[in-house]
Amino acid sequence: MTDLAARPAVAVPADAFRRRHIGTTPDAQERMLQAVGADSLDALLDRAVPDAIRPEPAEHPSVLPAAATERQAIAELRRLAARNTVRTSMIGLGYSGTITPAVIQRNVLENPAWYTAYTPYQPEISQGRLEALLNFQTMVADLTGLTTANSSMLDEATAVAEGMLLARRASKARTPRFVVDADALPQTKAVLAGRAEAVGVELVESDLAVDGLPDGDLFGVLVQYPGASGRVWDPAEAIAAAKERGGLAVVAADLLAMTLLTPPGELGADVAVGTTQRFGVPMAMGGPHAGYMAVRAGLERQLPGRLVGVSKDADGDPAYRLSLQAREQHIRREKATSNICTAQVLLAVMAAMYAVYHGPAGLKRIAEDVHGAAAHAATMLRAAGVRVREQAFFDVLLIDDVDAEAVLDAARERGLWLRRVDDRTVGIAFDEATGDVVDLLVDLLAGDRSSDFAFVAGGAATLPVQLLRTSAYLTHPVFNTFHSETGMMRYLRYLADLDYALDRGMIPLGSCTMKLNAATEMAAVTWPEFADLHPFAPAEDVAGSLELVGQLEAWLAELTGYDAVSLQPNAGSQGELAGLMAIRGYHRANGDESRTVCLIPSSAHGTNAASAVLAGLKVVVVACDELGNVDLADLRAKIAQHADALAALMITYPSTHGVYEHDVREVTDAVHAAGGQVYIDGANLNALLGRARFGDFGGDVSHLNLHKTFCIPHGGGGPGVGPVAAKAHLAAHLPGHPMAQQADGVAHWAPGRFGGTPVSAAPYGSPGILPISWAYVRMMGADGLQAATDAAVLAANYVAVRLQEAYPVLYRGEGGLVAHECILDLRPMTAATGVTVDDVAKRLIDHGFHAPTMSFPVPGTLMVEPTESEDLAEIDRFVDAMLAIRAEADRVRAGEWPADDNPLVNAPHTAHALAAPEWTHPYTREEAAYPFEASAADRHRAVRGKYWPPVRRIDQAWGDRNLVCACPPPDAFA
Ligand SMILES: *Cc1c(COP(=O)(O)O)cnc(C)c1O
Repeated sequence: MTDLAARPAVAVPADAFRRRHIGTTPDAQERMLQAVGADSLDALLDRAVPDAIRPEPAEHPSVLPAAATERQAIAELRRLAARNTVRTSMIGLGYSGTITPAVIQRNVLENPAWYTAYTPYQPEISQGRLEALLNFQTMVADLTGLTTANSSMLDEATAVAEGMLLARRASKARTPRFVVDADALPQTKAVLAGRAEAVGVELVESDLAVDGLPDGDLFGVLVQYPGASGRVWDPAEAIAAAKERGGLAVVAADLLAMTLLTPPGELGADVAVGTTQRFGVPMAMGGPHAGYMAVRAGLERQLPGRLVGVSKDADGDPAYRLSLQAREQHIRREKATSNICTAQVLLAVMAAMYAVYHGPAGLKRIAEDVHGAAAHAATMLRAAGVRVREQAFFDVLLIDDVDAEAVLDAARERGLWLRRVDDRTVGIAFDEATGDVVDLLVDLLAGDRSSDFAFVAGGAATLPVQLLRTSAYLTHPVFNTFHSETGMMRYLRYLADLDYALDRGMIPLGSCTMKLNAATEMAAVTWPEFADLHPFAPAEDVAGSLELVGQLEAWLAELTGYDAVSLQPNAGSQGELAGLMAIRGYHRANGDESRTVCLIPSSAHGTNAASAVLAGLKVVVVACDELGNVDLADLRAKIAQHADALAALMITYPSTHGVYEHDVREVTDAVHAAGGQVYIDGANLNALLGRARFGDFGGDVSHLNLHKTFCIPHGGGGPGVGPVAAKAHLAAHLPGHPMAQQADGVAHWAPGRFGGTPVSAAPYGSPGILPISWAYVRMMGADGLQAATDAAVLAANYVAVRLQEAYPVLYRGEGGLVAHECILDLRPMTAATGVTVDDVAKRLIDHGFHAPTMSFPVPGTLMVEPTESEDLAEIDRFVDAMLAIRAEADRVRAGEWPADDNPLVNAPHTAHALAAPEWTHPYTREEAAYPFEASAADRHRAVRGKYWPPVRRIDQAWGDRNLVCACPPPDAFA
């Protein structure tokens, strides 16, 4: 076999970024290759990667530029940033200017202790971010007046869609009708339309404030509160009417307005949804931001997404963890209710800290200032003869009888972005960051109608008295303590110190690719030229961002072998949905309406089947053989059985079992022969980039996870970007957007030209974090990306070889090799010693490691993905810890330690537990805390840098039986 895609060896310049990104040095790689039994990286990859997926020869010269240095990449990003023009945004529509407190920007957004953390599935090492998320849930529940909030949604529009689906599940009314407020945000309506159509929901639009609830049955109603028009009205009657007919009321509420207005819960709403963006999270041209969802009592078990709750640890002390963790299992198969996995944790933390920093009085003052500015402007404009439409509003004014185009142009010239509602109407939204623009607005809007009145004080009353909020909120001490910067800084440091993130050590998570998030990649995220853009700003003012989007799309298309890429989806799950909707749209456009079956292997990631259900497809499970590959015989049988109904096969490559399936060509060919489309889940591109391309071996459409392979940090469980990439025949069905800006001559497949339904509120999803992936590709170049893949595959095989005697490696490809991750089978050890996967995961904490992925995709196993970014010393430290744990398990088996009292079942050990006056265990305190078999020098560092978990093992079941999902009172900790 010849080297596939092998590139001539060129000297890597001394300042090349790849030397910083790839942790293993050439020397170390030499040693690792020896251990694995390969002569070179090319030889290793040659053996691991099947012939069948070799890339086809390139038809065009590469669009990928040669690798830039870090300084060069920053200079290019500066040039792109300079092509954007930031003006004062008064567009509104769910995106508001906001002032990010500097203490939060520096200590959360720009702090790797927060942004490099993983999703808190290991709660003992995640108490800091879990507390921050509990603050978020408490904040949302309080402000909406409902009982339970989850720990974030992807954005407001998708939160509304999830709210609609929740209403359908929970309503007893057997009807497909859902009523939508005509005053809902336009992008919400667009997302909702696509999501509803796919699952057979019939939307009925009505101007609820004017016409009330339309006649007929319904399972729910959506109210926008306040409306897109700015109107504030009392929806209690419409809500009550909907509930009388068996429907649920979903209210999309502005959280800042809820400090002044009666909240949805007190108006009878069942569900509240929305965004927390204006709580200190920059607009960033649309994202990332944390959406939210809250429900009344009795619906908490219906909530999609993650829910943080309170339980207790082995000492009976309160401890936080994700509640109802089984829910992530039931985003599975045909029973799926939601596909949300990666959410918006980092942004939820920021929003929660904004509330912690300002407190209830501070938030109310901000709301009053914003409202006061709008009211003052309304008064001045009316006095000047301008027609302001609504009498009651919070922060948005609609101005009628103007030449909208002319006003928008003049405003832009004078530094303001206004909203075009229609030819004769403009919208003006106020926010915390607007500044004094009243004279300017009068000038722009009154023109020669301007009169000579002078006003000395604020305007008339503009909020209905019966809607003023009387109930208290954010009364918990956490929202009333850290109002000085010193206090806030220390609170954030305290929480960060409780947690284990990539800034402490390796997080060897199979399927999640926790690699380096380089400082240079992160640099542009907070530049105002990117951070302060409104998602619907004029195309000319976002030219630099559109150029960046176009370049990244073109690079990703080339790297995956596809023709078109959309960066719109806000997570892998949303990319899946978009890709499957594209397949559905394609079949329907061909008149193949009956093609509705989606085949999914039993090993698939949970989101796959859930996305298929949400795309209106019927899931049929295909078996895997004992080697973990798709069972070809079963696949053929299922294809034959469903024949003309076959819409698609959805497979993961490399497989969820971490191997390159050799038969993948046969699999994709069989599906195509039957008229189906092939969806390849590309979340785990880390084993392919530069070595093989989905588009070359049968893929029609894929999603990628930029928050895995392309260095966007995990943020503790989000943000993410899940681009969807497709062959030309599907391109027309990729997600479009009614408000997308067009770039001239750059993004030849801009979203405005895609014809599919939008899957995110903003046209380009989360542009705020795209500079991260852009910089990664730009600084690695094609060679560097391939080198990263090679190093990742080498590291995984090295771990497999070193651990295989202690823990059998469950699946290997035909060359006896794994891909970028390996599954360690702990079941034989558990059978022999009673030591479980959980015990090993918790004992790793004592060693200062985050556990690998537990019991996915196979129960009783650990899946390890070392990635290319870890150096050999850290990989060896992990391997040594795993071997030490195996040796401890053997001591349990030998009867040296009782099965119910040993360092494994008692792990993790807190400092407090070790300081107990009496030590009754059969092992020493030293063995408990410092289980290192290391050289004196290593030991010195390990002892000094010891990570101390703040809590002992947490009782999961107890917390699920006693569900508490808001901040516990301080005396709970007494
Ligand atoms: C992570 C992952 C997903 C889901 O991505 P999210 O961004 O969490 O929605 C889907 N498939 C595979 C194989 C994954 O590893």
